Amino acid sequence: MSSIQSKQGHPKGLYLLFVTEMWERFSYYGMRALFMLYITKALLFDKGFAAQIYGSYTGLVYLTPLLGGYIADRYWGNRRSIFWGGIIMALGQFLMFASAINYQDIETAKYLMFLGLGGLILGNGLFKPNISTMVGHLYEPNDSRKDAAFTIFYMGINLGAALAPLWCGFVGDTGNPADFKWGFLSAGTGMLLSVTVFQILKNKYLCTPEGQQIGLSPSSYKQAATQVTEKHNEKSVVLELQNSKSRIYFSLAGFIALFLIFSINFDAFTNASISLFSGADWIGSAIFAVSLVMPIFIIVDKSLTKVERSRIFVIYIISFFVIFFWAAFEQAGASLTFFADEQTDRNIFGWVMPASAFQSFNAIFVVSLAPLFAMLWTALGKRGMEPSSPAKQSIGLFLLAVGYLVIAIGVRGVDANTKVSMLWLTSLYLLHTMGELCLSPIGLSIVNKLSPLRFSSLLMGVWFMSNAAANKFAGILSGLYPENGISKSFAGYEITTLYDFFIFFVIMSGIASVVLFVLSKWLEKLMGGIR
Ligand code: GLN
Repeated sequence: MSSIQSKQGHPKGLYLLFVTEMWERFSYYGMRALFMLYITKALLFDKGFAAQIYGSYTGLVYLTPLLGGYIADRYWGNRRSIFWGGIIMALGQFLMFASAINYQDIETAKYLMFLGLGGLILGNGLFKPNISTMVGHLYEPNDSRKDAAFTIFYMGINLGAALAPLWCGFVGDTGNPADFKWGFLSAGTGMLLSVTVFQILKNKYLCTPEGQQIGLSPSSYKQAATQVTEKHNEKSVVLELQNSKSRIYFSLAGFIALFLIFSINFDAFTNASISLFSGADWIGSAIFAVSLVMPIFIIVDKSLTKVERSRIFVIYIISFFVIFFWAAFEQAGASLTFFADEQTDRNIFGWVMPASAFQSFNAIFVVSLAPLFAMLWTALGKRGMEPSSPAKQSIGLFLLAVGYLVIAIGVRGVDANTKVSMLWLTSLYLLHTMGELCLSPIGLSIVNKLSPLRFSSLLMGVWFMSNAAANKFAGILSGLYPENGISKSFAGYEITTLYDFFIFFVIMSGIASVVLFVLSKWLEKLMGGIR
């Protein structure tokens, strides 16, 4: 396979996927911006319970992509999975709308809300890995434009994420609980728009450079298999997951054993003083158990060649490191919001900015910086100076550590009653976003480049699964946020002040960055010519 360095611009299909994903993320983040407010202010859940539901929801949303990836690779293909995922998510949003209409009848509203969350979790599983996989399939396997393409796609994600809280917050968070429904209705409408655009334009734009339709079901590829398989150097395009019964039984037994170990020993693992995780956490245990069993289940598949297996192994290593990235990064929705609320001076010429507004900084920075990063990768690629993907990810972790170091310096010696300038938190978000742009779109791209075609969506599911584990881990770490000078400890590290808390993240992401950097040469070798 020759590397195609010279092609300019991007296929139109990229922009179709951009718009489809933008509206889907508008829907996802619009609902998410209102969700905690809705359940605490309209349904009157207490804050602790609400946080648990939120944690489980965001964890499960990233676990189901495994299922969606499996269904697509084996039966439906990407297009059909995206369509049904979108429809189920829209249904989920409309159930949230129905719940919010009935908010005064709390029992009915709760019932509808849980059904709605179920729809969103299942639908996202079908949608998210499959849309990401399709981005890569628009290009030749070794096309050097892929990192830039995923970076542009990532901009679409964040355009939706930036606009959604503004619009859904404007119509739904008015102070009157009866208005939440308008936010959920907007989210549902965004989702329908996404599916409609996709359905109308998919046949026209979603094809390979040779004009071959992508994202069809594996059985439809069967007919064209000879040409395509040669092209992609695949043994077969038809999925050949060798589901020998023993492999399934073995995995199930492993899952059950790990699930029991985690749920019984959770307190011991997570330090009993951390309230969020005290007591058995079934969903957290299930996420951690699946995260260990599923990778083994995939890699022992008999149809894999040696080269494929070592490439999949690289996906696992990278997915493992990004757990640390997201666990530190996702403090944005938890401990960093407390920090914004309690210890940041948010006064701008007499106007006090709400603490929650910091949540949109990330998306706004991504949208502003993504084109620069896409250009940077393309420019470096042309000069043959582009860092390898594992090296980029290590840089991402490094920037995350620097972000925490900056804020640690800002809070050093500051007591609980003093507020620091918002420039500190703003700098942190800027650095974290730059780190995210080195790591997250590049991660989607490398998973795509390293996956055998017949496992591409399932392995994208593995990539998202690391987010599920990271979100759970983020919840644990957020519980270490210092309160009233009481010491907390994690893995032998004592935290009493905000400075200690932030330095913990510097150490964690710094170590992860250095180790990944050291491993990157070895990983490049395992990747066998793919960068
Ligand atoms: N913000 C991005 C999205 O919504 C990435 C999320 C993630 O992978 N943690 O797709």
